[in-house]
Amino acid sequence: MTDRIKRDFSLRNQEEKTEFLQMTWCNTCMKEDLGMEDPQEYEIEGKIFIDGKCVKCHSVVTTELAFDDE
Ligand SMILES: [Zn+2]
Repeated sequence: MTDRIKRDFSLRNQEEKTEFLQMTWCNTCMKEDLGMEDPQEYEIEGKIFIDGKCVKCHSVVTTELAFDDE
């Protein structure tokens, strides 16, 4: 079992929130950047994910946040 650590998406700044809510990939619509609503942020093994609902079809959309420090 992997532990899911809950994080508070609402603590992020407005710029990040807007960006993360827009940069999505929906497996049901097969389209990117449709947007999501009702975001839930969590962490698994050091990786941060945001789950939300596709604005268009309301399927669950998961975004993995990648940090590129290069
Ligand atoms: Zn969708």
